[in-house]
Amino acid sequence: MDEVIRDCRSAYEAFEFHKVYHTLNQFCAVDLSSLYIDITKDRMYCDAADSALRRATQKVMHEIFYALCRLLAPILAFTAEEAWRHSEAGGSVHLEEFPQPQHRDNDASAQVAELLRLRSVIGQAIERARQEKLIGNTLEARVVLNSDSDVTEKIDKEELEEFFIVSDLTIHQAKEASVSVTKTPYKKCARCWRHRPTVGASKAHPDLCDRCESVVIALSGATR
Ligand SMILES: [Zn+2]
Repeated sequence: MDEVIRDCRSAYEAFEFHKVYHTLNQFCAVDLSSLYIDITKDRMYCDAADSALRRATQKVMHEIFYALCRLLAPILAFTAEEAWRHSEAGGSVHLEEFPQPQHRDNDASAQVAELLRLRSVIGQAIERARQEKLIGNTLEARVVLNSDSDVTEKIDKEELEEFFIVSDLTIHQAKEASVSVTKTPYKKCARCWRHRPTVGASKAHPDLCDRCESVVIALSGATR
């Protein structure tokens, strides 16, 4: 988002409106729709309403909403205003100033670039396994990633499984990146559709994974 804010501000400065449009369109279609929202869908739909991860994503989407409305306002005048009035911000988006980029975190950008590179290696291996009918869908894959990057040592496995959108991930460090895919032996959770080792462990909820079970128990406690 910070990069988009920077790029749009300098494009407006140079009256290059097509660059603003292109940058925002690309951001919404690629960075948001096919990456960030795809990756965070599971925690938004399946985590407890007050889970820290879910809240963090809501906060990010909130920031993105206000930044996008303001950046779009000169080009999509009515739509941006309508969206702004629909929010709790109050007033008019046309009385706002453009958002300021917050900070540049080069470490985070480098880590994301590494993760995206590994994600594409995993994606290709899963696609091959699908074509060979080894697996039906991505969440059925047991993925063994031989990682040539230290980023996979810095980030914990749960987060990597979420980022790569896979149920069952094992990581080894290696000189060269490669991936092997087989079908996971774990059962599918009826709620989140991920194949997890904890599905079947609970007598009360044999078709749920441990995360979903705790959410369901909390929900049924709240409505009782
Ligand atoms: Zn589940």
